[in-house]
Amino acid sequence: MRRGEIIAVGSELLLGGRLDTNSLFLTDGLAEAGVEVRYKSVVGDEEADIAAALRMAARRADVVVLTGGLGPTTDDRTRQAVARATGRPLRRRAEALDGMRRQLEAWGRTPTKAQFRQGLIPVGAEVLANSVGSAPGFCLRWKGAVIVALPGVPSEARAMFATAVVPRLQMEVAAHRRVTQHRCIDRRVLHTVGILEAELDHRLKDLVGRGSGIRLGLLASPLGVTVSLTLCGAKTKVMMDELVRRVRRRLSPYIYAEGFATMEEVVGRQLARLGLRLAVAESCTGGLIGHRLTQVPGSSAYLDRVAVCYSNRAKTEWLGVSERLLRKHGAVSAQVAAAMARGARVKSRVDIGLSVTGIAGPDGGTAQKPVGLVYIGLDARRRRGRGSCSVTKVCRFHGPREAIKLRASQTALNLLRQWLIADGKAARS
Ligand code: ATP
Ligand code: MG
Repeated sequence: MRRGEIIAVGSELLLGGRLDTNSLFLTDGLAEAGVEVRYKSVVGDEEADIAAALRMAARRADVVVLTGGLGPTTDDRTRQAVARATGRPLRRRAEALDGMRRQLEAWGRTPTKAQFRQGLIPVGAEVLANSVGSAPGFCLRWKGAVIVALPGVPSEARAMFATAVVPRLQMEVAAHRRVTQHRCIDRRVLHTVGILEAELDHRLKDLVGRGSGIRLGLLASPLGVTVSLTLCGAKTKVMMDELVRRVRRRLSPYIYAEGFATMEEVVGRQLARLGLRLAVAESCTGGLIGHRLTQVPGSSAYLDRVAVCYSNRAKTEWLGVSERLLRKHGAVSAQVAAAMARGARVKSRVDIGLSVTGIAGPDGGTAQKPVGLVYIGLDARRRRGRGSCSVTKVCRFHGPREAIKLRASQTALNLLRQWLIADGKAARS
């Protein structure tokens, strides 16, 4: 196994305001390329500190990935630090400058004097093009280690890593494996919702025996529990495929996605495949469902509109929920959730209406209607014949306001996902 190490550079990552998130996708990507991350560190913008961290990392790792500090400002010191640690002086490189100029031209800008500094690359390093931003990255070999420097901006780091670094690492690891018969990592991830972590553990624990070399990981979040299976070994694929099949069988109603797929992508694909259009009415989640759905490119093909209705007046005026119903049952009730979903669907003349109404807290709860009480409604036009069908679901969530909103959005999207599976089956039969 090749050993990897990540160094996130940036004083802002040490001040408490920002978290190093780049190392998350870098770790995943490195594992997929056959590199196991052994250490991660976060270093401020001091050139000497970055150089010291790099020297230390290069002694114990085969691949060191730095992220951050490649920009044009004076606090961007990564290129100087790499030059200092490796003894490779910086030189202006034509391909780095050209790439940067092209990118800035595409934005209608000309490079500033400070930006020209981004064209400085350590001698002997390969320039990595930046398809998203202006700062080029680079990659060099030093004392047997591959050192990669990526920008800090997450979208830039992600794109550069995927297009320029992963293919190089895969070649490198394959060559190394031929020589040493080394082992690789196989990691599979399945996302579940609607089942507790302890129940998942109970259902899966006999699958992963001691000494099998398989690591089972369960990670709970407001979006559900993610199951990861990690296997280190030379012939892993067949074994892993079989294991994943067994996990799928045991957890089938709860698994909504695998790998990097998200709930909103899964639901979007279903809607597009079935040719159905959706309208959403949100109280409690404040537009979060709409936000998540519209994170998926092309979502306007199936999402008609999202109404964020907090006051009773908004529910009446925009969704046609009757005042009598609101008075009788209260805004947080199954009846109002159903009426909101129906109103969203009917007013926008689409196939499905999805609604949420609830109490996100921390205040506003009562003994009858406590914080975390959420009703979800779904109303859909019948595909055959006239009329519609309606489903409501009551949930009791816990946690802080943000977690309750996330859980409510996830459960609503999951209700839609399950309904679409059933509807797709009904349409086929
Ligand atoms: P540029 O200065 O051109 O934007 P850079 O390579 O110098 O790019 P930084 O200045 O270090 O990058 O960071 C740019 C932005 O990316 C900042 O908002 C920073 O908080 C964020 N960022 C940097 N490193 C990380 C990281 N490891 N994880 C998440 N965000 C990061
Ligand atoms: Mg910067």
